[in-house]
Amino acid sequence: MDFDFDADQKAFIKEVREFLEDVRQWPDAADIMCPERESDSILADTPARKRFNRELARRGYLGLSWPREYGGQGRPGIYEYLLNEELSRVGAPLIGKGVGCVGQTLIRHGSDKLKSEFLPRILKAEIEFALGYTEPHAGSDLAALRLRADRVENGWMLNGQKMFTTSAHFADWYWLAARTDFDAPKHKGISLFLLPMDQPRITIHPIETMGEHVTNQVFLDNVFVGDDYVVGELNKGWLYICEALDYERFTFYTFSPLEEKLKALRALLSAKADDRRAIADRPHVRRRLARLTSEVELSKMLQRRVVHAASQNRVPTIEAAMCKLYSTSLHQRLADFALDSLGLDGLLHKGDPKAPAVGKWEWSYRATALDTIGAGSSEVQRNIIARRHLDLPLRF
Ligand SMILES: Cc1cc2nc3c(=O)[nH]c(=O)nc-3n(C[C@H](O)[C@H](O)[C@H](O)COP(=O)(O)OP(=O)(O)OC[C@H]3O[C@@H](n4cnc5c(N)ncnc54)[C@H](O)[C@@H]3O)c2cc1C
Repeated sequence: MDFDFDADQKAFIKEVREFLEDVRQWPDAADIMCPERESDSILADTPARKRFNRELARRGYLGLSWPREYGGQGRPGIYEYLLNEELSRVGAPLIGKGVGCVGQTLIRHGSDKLKSEFLPRILKAEIEFALGYTEPHAGSDLAALRLRADRVENGWMLNGQKMFTTSAHFADWYWLAARTDFDAPKHKGISLFLLPMDQPRITIHPIETMGEHVTNQVFLDNVFVGDDYVVGELNKGWLYICEALDYERFTFYTFSPLEEKLKALRALLSAKADDRRAIADRPHVRRRLARLTSEVELSKMLQRRVVHAASQNRVPTIEAAMCKLYSTSLHQRLADFALDSLGLDGLLHKGDPKAPAVGKWEWSYRATALDTIGAGSSEVQRNIIARRHLDLPLRF
């Protein structure tokens, strides 16, 4: 049994780490790498982030797994996973939607026009997408989405509302699921569209979350989309959405932030205070640290099972559900333990000079709740494990 990466994969990890060490010297490195807060928090559209993404593109790190005929490197998907592990380890922006679900779906199903318009721009990091799936009444049960697309001359008229569209406030294009057939069974009447975000009939309202992750409500009021911007075949949107989830198995959840957080917490609790005693000297703190260390190792094994299954071309639905459920809950337990151990100072926000680790743990306590909801809530993951792994009937 070998849980390790092969020589080429290890060489790639080394190369990425060296690149990130170089980036650390950039004058605006602090705007790119944010180890105090995991990468998800870096969702702002800053010049530093853009420059960093362009550098990823220049080095060929975008489209690593795309076929060569579309400008990719034709490498196995595991390289994208390894890249994201290293990016998230230092809190840098991850490679995401463009090369992931948008690019991969266009490669498989897009028209020649959409391919030639979008793929080269994605590879050059010239374009930012927002994903418009969730609606007020369609989240876990996404196939219930109701945003209307009505047939008009040469295209479609879109009307309705989306919820929790991350990056809508700075994205250039909207990758949007809408209902094109109201009479068909719910999974069969959905189509995918591409539309520019910057138009007067699209209204964006920010939603501030408890973890300071800004997401958005988006309202579409008679927004016209030409036939050319329907992705793939009409009414096949559900299939494409599910397929895109499969492409992203490799890159979905990175393990390194958990590892880095535990390391940082151990160092913080082991530091000697003025009275020469460290918090980690207390027996109950040592006991919990030891237990969390084992749990972090367990989380790594669950993550490796996802990567292993995906690299064998299996769809690791159950492995991914177990990994997401366990890791997101572990992130919460870690933050909970940090606040228990740090005492009242641990509750101080970033900006307060007395806040330990620049308020990282206070923030982490709030932010980790979001991870148990986005990309499929914990209850949904438990349902997947119960039904598909344990063969238990679905009950409400
Ligand atoms: C930070 C963040 C960013 C996001 N970004 C995006 C984005 O960019 N684009 C996008 O389209 N969406 C995005 N989402 C939306 C996300 O995918 C949904 O929040 C998620 O799928 C849950 O849907 P919901 O919020 O409608 O909750 P609901 O589905 O209404 O669920 C409410 C509660 O009921 C539980 N529940 C639901 N169904 C079942 C069931 N069958 N059995 C047991 N319990 C159940 C859920 O677990 C949850 O606790 C984002 C969400 C967050 C938190």
